[in-house]
Amino acid sequence: MSLSSARTVEGGNSDQRWEAHRLEAVAALDILDTSPEKPFDRIARLVKAALDVDTALISFIDAHRQWHKANVGMDDQQIPLQETLCRHVVKYGGPLIVQDARQDPRFAKSRLVTAEHGLRFYAGIPLKTRDGFVVGTLCAIDREPRQFPARDLDLLQDFADLVVDQLELRERAMTDELTGALSRRALYEEGGRLAALTSRHRHNLTAIAFDLDHFKSINDTYGHAAGDEVLRRVAKTVKLLVRKSDIFARVGGEEFTILLPETDRQGAAEAAEKLRKDISALRFEFDGTTVGVTASLGVAAFDASTGDIETLLTRADAALYKAKNDGRNRYAVWGTGDISVRSARRRVLKAGKVSFNNGGSSIDCTVRTLGQEGAGMDLISTADVPDEFRLIIRSDGLDASCRVTSRTRTHIEVEFR
Ligand code: GH3
Ligand code: MG
Ligand code: MG
Repeated sequence: MSLSSARTVEGGNSDQRWEAHRLEAVAALDILDTSPEKPFDRIARLVKAALDVDTALISFIDAHRQWHKANVGMDDQQIPLQETLCRHVVKYGGPLIVQDARQDPRFAKSRLVTAEHGLRFYAGIPLKTRDGFVVGTLCAIDREPRQFPARDLDLLQDFADLVVDQLELRERAMTDELTGALSRRALYEEGGRLAALTSRHRHNLTAIAFDLDHFKSINDTYGHAAGDEVLRRVAKTVKLLVRKSDIFARVGGEEFTILLPETDRQGAAEAAEKLRKDISALRFEFDGTTVGVTASLGVAAFDASTGDIETLLTRADAALYKAKNDGRNRYAVWGTGDISVRSARRRVLKAGKVSFNNGGSSIDCTVRTLGQEGAGMDLISTADVPDEFRLIIRSDGLDASCRVTSRTRTHIEVEFR
C-alpha cells in the first residue's frame, strides 16, 4: 500500500477501526440524503416485480440509521439503526434470508416485525465496494412468511451487482447530474493542476466556498423536489457569473466551490459579494408561497504559505464557517479578522455517541462535520438531547465536552468547551 492511500485511524479496537473505514466508504459515495435517482428506483421496482414482494429497498447505512435511496413499498425514508434487519447484513457481510421473522429470536422483537402488518419475510444482499466495505443493502421484504429458493437468491444478487455498478458509474461521473457542476473528484483533479501551475508561475488563484443557509428547512417545508429546484437555479446563477476558465463544483449536498484562476483576493471578494446578492435575489414559488434563499461564502487566495489545493480549500471553508457564525448571508475572507484553520470544519462521516447524565444516557449519532473547535451531528431525534453533553468518537479517541449552538429536529451543532 502506498503512503498516500494508507489511512490511519487512531485508537479503537479492530471492529471500530473497520467500522470507521466502512463509514469513510459510505461518505465517499456522497449519496446520503440525496434525491431519488431513476436507475436506483428502476432496480427497486424490478426487484419488487420479479420476486413478487411487498417492498424493495436500496439502503445505505451510516452510524445511527438506515437511509433509503430507493424505496418501493415502505413509508419510512429512514429507520433507526437498532430496529433494522439490514444492519445484520452489514455486520456479517453476507446475504441474510429470514423466512419468518416472528419465528426468529434475533428479530421477533423488532418494531418492524411486531407492528401491525409487520415484516415477516426478509432477504438482504450486501452492497460492497471494491475494497470490500458493506455500504448498504438491497433487500426484499414481505408481510407473509415465505420460502426463498436458490434461484431467487441468485436473482437478488444479480440486482445487487447492478446497484454496485450504478454506484461506480455515479462515482466516476465528472459532473453532477442535478446542477451540471463538476463533481468533487473533478474539483480536486483540476484544482491540483491549477495549484501546481500557480506555485510554479506565481499566478493568482483564489477559491470561493459557499453553502446555502438553512437549506434543510426548504426540504422540510416544501419537499425534496423544491430543494432540487433551488439547487438548480443557484447553480445557474453561478454559471452566469463565473468565467469560462473558472472551475465550479458541487462538493456536497448544498455546498459548492469555485476556483478562480488569474483572480486576486480583491477580485474574488467582489465576485463573492456579487454572487451573494444574486442568490438572495432569486425567488421561487412553492405551494403558492414566494420563497427566497441565501448563501454564506468564504474566500481564500493562494499564496506562498498555501502550498496545495487542500490547504486553499480548507482556508476557504474556515472563512465560510466564519460567515455562517457571523449571521449568514455574507462572505468572509481568509487572512482578515480572526479566521483560523482551527475554526474550519471537515466534512466527515463518523460514528459518535452523545453522552449525558454523567454517562448514564447515550444516543448514537453520525458526526457530519468536525473541526478543532466544534462539530455537527445527525441523530434520529434531538428531542432528548440536553444543551450540554459529551461527544465521544471512539475511532478517533475523542471525548469532548460540548455546548449546543444550534439544533433542528435531527441535527445538532456544538462548540467544544
Ligand atoms: P446551514 O445554514 O447551517 O448551512 O443550515 P442547513 O440547513 O443548510 O445545513 P445542513 O447541512 O444541516 O443541511 C443540508 C441539507 O441539504 C440536508 C439534506 O437534506 C439536503 N440535501 C443534500 N443533498 C440534497 C439534494 O441533492 N437535494 C435536496 N433537495 N436536498 C439535499
Ligand atoms: Mg447549508
Ligand atoms: Mg451544508
